[in-house]
Amino acid sequence: VADLLDADFYAFQHTLTDAEQRSLTGIRAFLDTEVRPFADDLWERAESPRHLVPRIAELGLYGNAFPETRQFENSDVYRGWVALEISRADPSLATFIGVHSGLAMTSISVGGSEEQKAEWLPKLAAGELVAAFGLTEPGHGSDTAKGLETTAERRGDTWVLNGAKRWIGNGAFADLVVIWARDVADDQVKGFLVRTPAVGFSATKIERKQSLRGVENADIVMTDLVIPESDRLQRIDGFRDLAVVLRLTRAHVAWQALGVGVGAYEGALAYAKARHQFGKPIASFQLVQQKLADALANITASIALSVRVSQMQDEGVQRDHHSAMAKAFVSARVRETVALCREICGGNGIQLGGESQLGGAIAPGYGVARYFADAEAVYTFEGTYDMNSLIVGRSITGIPAFV
Ligand code: FAD
Repeated sequence: VADLLDADFYAFQHTLTDAEQRSLTGIRAFLDTEVRPFADDLWERAESPRHLVPRIAELGLYGNAFPETRQFENSDVYRGWVALEISRADPSLATFIGVHSGLAMTSISVGGSEEQKAEWLPKLAAGELVAAFGLTEPGHGSDTAKGLETTAERRGDTWVLNGAKRWIGNGAFADLVVIWARDVADDQVKGFLVRTPAVGFSATKIERKQSLRGVENADIVMTDLVIPESDRLQRIDGFRDLAVVLRLTRAHVAWQALGVGVGAYEGALAYAKARHQFGKPIASFQLVQQKLADALANITASIALSVRVSQMQDEGVQRDHHSAMAKAFVSARVRETVALCREICGGNGIQLGGESQLGGAIAPGYGVARYFADAEAVYTFEGTYDMNSLIVGRSITGIPAFV
C-alpha cells in the first residue's frame, strides 16, 4: 500500500498491515509538506514547533500506543516506523513527541490509576495540554536509579517536593510535568503529576545547545512545591516501575535514531547525484559509493534489530536488555552513518538549509548538518551508549558493572 522508503532496502515495511501502511503514507505527506521545509529554520532559532500540536493530535501521533487514545489498533512495529518517519523529517519534532507521548504519557499509562489515566490521557492525546518528563538532575544522569536527590515528603494529604531537574524536554512550557522524586520515608522513587504553573516550581529554557536545537529543554527548580496525594502516580512503588516506562520508550529511541540516519542518508544520496567534480557526479566515484553502501548497511541492520525488538514488545517478551541493545547499537551505527553522509556532502555538509551553492535552488544535501548534530544527543539521552551497553553486559554475565 505505502511507497516504501528507498532506505528500507529489505522491504521490512511490507510486514505492516494495510491500515498501518496507509496511516504511514498520510503521516509522511504531512511531514514532507508541513515539517521538513521548516525544520532547519526552527533548529537555527532553537524553537519547538508548538504551532503543530493540533495537527499532530489530529493525525493521531500522540498516545497511539494506548487503548484509551489510539485512533486504530496498531502494533509497536508500526509505532516504531512512525517514530522513524517523524525523525527522518525532524529529529527535534520526534523528540518533542517522544517526551510528550512516549515518556510522559507512558508514565501515566504504566503508573497512573484508572482515574488518573481517564483525567490526563485523552487531553494529552488531543494536544490540549503538553507534557514533560523530569528524571535527570544536575548531579545525576546515568546514576538516577541510585543517586536521585529530589525529595518528596508526605504531609497529610499532600507531598512537598524539593530539588532540581536538568535537560527536561518541553519543560519550559509544558502544562504537566511528571516529576520523579525520592520519598524521604521509605527511600523509594515515586512519580508526581505537577500541574504548571505552580508556586515553588520554576523552569528555565537551556540556551546554546548544539544538538536537537528544536527541542526546548529546561532546568527546573522545586522549592517546597506542594502536590496533592491524588496527583502522585498511584501504581509506582519504586525505580523498578519507572524502569518499565524506560524499557518501553527506549526501544523507540532506537527507531528515532534510525530516522536521523535515514534523513542523513537520503540527503547525502541526493547530493551525491547532483554534485559534480572532475566532470562527473560524485555518486559515480567508487569511494563515495562505498560510503553510501556502508551507510545503507548500517541502516538496514538497525531496521532489522528495531523491527525485532518491537515485535518482542508486541509479543510481551521484551526485556530491559533487549531495549538497551537496540538503543545502543542503533545510535552507534547512526553516529557512524551521519559522519559518512556529512563527509559525502563536503563543505556543504556543515551548513543548514538556505541558498544553494549548486546554482540557485535549495541544495538537496543541506539537511545533513542538522542530522549530524542531532545524532549526538540521541546517542546520549534515555541512557548513554555506555549505560545501555552495561545493561546488556549485566544480562550476558549476570554481573552489574555500574552499581
Ligand atoms: P553522565 O551520567 O554524567 O555521563 C557522562 C559520561 O560518563 C557518559 O559518557 C556516560 O556514559 C559515562 N558514564 C557514567 N557512568 C558510567 C559508568 N558507570 N560506566 C561507564 N561510563 C559511565 N532527561 C529527562 O529526565 N527528561 C528529558 O526530557 C530529557 N531530555 C533530554 C534531551 C536532551 C537533548 C539531552 C541531551 C538530554 C536529555 N535528558 C533528559 C537527560 C539525559 O537522559 C541524560 O543526559 C543522560 O541520561 C546522561 O546523563 P548525563 O548527561 O548526566 O551524563
